[in-house]
Amino acid sequence: MAKIILTGDRPTGRLHIGHYVGSLRRRVELQNSGLFDRIFVMIADAQALTDNADNPDKVRQNITEVALDYLAAGLDPAKTTIFVQSYVSELTELSFYYMNLVTVQRLQRNPTVKAEIKMRGFSESEDGSDNKAGTPVGFFCYPISQAADITAFKATTVPVGEDQEPMIELTREIVRKFNSTYAPVLVEPDILLPDNAACLRLPGTDGKAKMSKSLGNCIYLADDAQTVRDKVKGMFTDPLHLQVSDPGHVEGNTVFTYLDAFCKDEHFGKFGDCFVGRKSSFSFKNLDEVKAQYREGGLGDMMIKNFLAAVLEDTLGPIRERRAEFAKDIPAVMDMLRKGSLEAREVAAQTLAEVKQAMKINYFE
Ligand code: ATP
Ligand code: MG
Repeated sequence: MAKIILTGDRPTGRLHIGHYVGSLRRRVELQNSGLFDRIFVMIADAQALTDNADNPDKVRQNITEVALDYLAAGLDPAKTTIFVQSYVSELTELSFYYMNLVTVQRLQRNPTVKAEIKMRGFSESEDGSDNKAGTPVGFFCYPISQAADITAFKATTVPVGEDQEPMIELTREIVRKFNSTYAPVLVEPDILLPDNAACLRLPGTDGKAKMSKSLGNCIYLADDAQTVRDKVKGMFTDPLHLQVSDPGHVEGNTVFTYLDAFCKDEHFGKFGDCFVGRKSSFSFKNLDEVKAQYREGGLGDMMIKNFLAAVLEDTLGPIRERRAEFAKDIPAVMDMLRKGSLEAREVAAQTLAEVKQAMKINYFE
């Protein structure tokens, strides 16, 4: 069986370092591994509209921003089909048929959607009188549309962050239900989570559970070096580490979580200077040694933050430079998206034809 990847992002903002470690970095590695027959990366504008219906400008603007982030991070249109979801209208059609295979109760149990409804303030109004309150039906159903996105390309592998686990599980259920009810047309996908625990769900700079475009606690791939340094300086560390000499806690300390996600041993050779101070100096060879010293006491937050800023810049600097290059020719970026969308549409149309045949609604063939 062909090995196929499908994944994507919502154009609700520029991409941040949570996306990078949670999914984007891995996608680029998979793309360059040569182990996959086809790779599809989707800009999920239709999904973004499910909770941004009143803000089409935001979604439109972020199509190019996300495409630039992709190219800057190393996605290569020669190896990866990058496309825009709404252009592939077959996906909407598939969603409509899949809706018959899922119950409202099943959707209501989805823990990610539950958390997102709460976060977005879509509280249920009893009589539905207030249009502002309540969950848009499209938003409630987005896990079904995600199943359509994945299955339209017969994806075997979906590299995403941990929040997407319930969506992949639902997709597998829909595939089983479809194949047993109609005919074995669809393919059950596997989720591919980051192998590093810190990357499963990178917290925000405010220490909140998830860095998220909608929460304003992000370090963006497009942030300039000074902005990154300022954001790192403002980060929460360990509230009990009041004096440099106090023993510190590493667990739940966002600065260390970011180091877990980004730091490599080679960074100690490059940026060891960060641990040389007027009052005390350290010579570390790896992150475990830094953690041990922090737990013991005597290592100040400022030194670690300076080191983290340098480590982040090591990854973000080259990405930022490439982004600026691609941003010089936006028409070329749009052309790349148009070509990718045409390609994606062909594949989705083929699956939709098979689906309609299996469902016996191919009357005129
Ligand atoms: P929104 O707030 O609009 O939902 P988002 O920041 O959650 O935006 P998405 O476009 O929903 O971003 O997610 C795109 C991909 O990035 C998904 O695979 C998701 O699992 C992953 N991802 C998003 N945020 C994080 C994070 N903080 N840590 C790890 N992975 C993440
Ligand atoms: Mg999200």
